[in-house]
Parts: sequence; structure tokens; C-alpha cells
Amino acid sequence: MLSISVTSMRRCHSKGWPILTPQPIEIPLRSLEHDRYTEKLEENATVAWQREYAKKSSAWVQKLLPHVTKPIMAEMDFFLAQGLSGVGCFRSYIHKLGKASSPGCPCGEERQTASHVLEDCPLYESGRPKTLDVSEEPTCKYIRNVVCSLWKTENEENHRGHSERISRPPVLPQEVSIEEE
Ligand SMILES: [Zn+2]
Repeated sequence: MLSISVTSMRRCHSKGWPILTPQPIEIPLRSLEHDRYTEKLEENATVAWQREYAKKSSAWVQKLLPHVTKPIMAEMDFFLAQGLSGVGCFRSYIHKLGKASSPGCPCGEERQTASHVLEDCPLYESGRPKTLDVSEEPTCKYIRNVVCSLWKTENEENHRGHSERISRPPVLPQEVSIEEE
């Protein structure tokens, strides 16, 4: 079996942002019929991609997206990407960057992680699906709205001078509703 380099996912951030990087995959035998050959090539590339993904993505990313082929039922944007990666406007992360005085959640939980906010936090119960499944639109909408709401809270705190500015805050999109419909 030959090997060549193809692009595959790996994280470019300590918390799991994927980028493309060369990884070896097995090339199927040329003697296969054309359709089977391309099918097999795709299978092998997916296996190589999944292998790297499993090694290098964070536990949170893998919980939401256990397999690289799982579809995400929404257009990716700033807010959804933060929720899916767990990197962003969560206090535990901001605290790690030295930009928040405490990693705690206002609900009393010691660490405000993406998992806590999106799965357990009583403050963000509204609109939460029974299970987070990113291949379903309500989950993507919920994650986006919650992250958008976290940013809004953080911006308000910044204005009141209660915490350091964590970065230039994004412009909140008009089309994203914080309230439940
Ligand atoms: Zn909480």
C-alpha cells in the first residue's frame, strides 16, 4: 500500500480549533474499479482525518462532533464557532487568559465552561434542547444565542468597568435573537 500526503484536520489552538495540515493516507490499489477506487480513497482519507481529530481535538469538541463527517446544521459564524470550540466568552477560558478575575459562573458553579453553560447552567436553561445535537437546527440556534448572550453580558460588564476588556468585542448580529421565540 502506498502512502501520500493529503490534507487532514489538526488543531491550531490549544483548545481545539482545526486547521488543515498534511497527513499520510493509504492509497488503494489501482486495480480497483474507478468508482470503488475513489470511494476507498475517500474512506481512507476520512479514517486518517478522524484519527488526527480524535488525538488533537478537545473533549468538548469531540462530544459535540464525535465524527468528522457529522454535519453541523447551521451556517458557521463567530458565536457558533465559540460555542462549538468551547474557546471564547466562557469565564473559565477568559480567566485562564488573565482577563477575568474569576473562572466562576454567576449561578455559583466554580468554573464557567462551555459544557457547564450549554448543558447544565440554570441561567441558560431557556431554549436548551434535551440533548445537544449539532446536526439539528435547534441545537445550533441555542448554542449561538447563548454565546451571543454571554458576549452581551461581558460587554455590559466592560462598560460598567467590572472586568477587563477581553478583546475587541464583536458587533452583535441583528438577526440573532437573544430571547426565546
Ligand atoms: Zn452557571
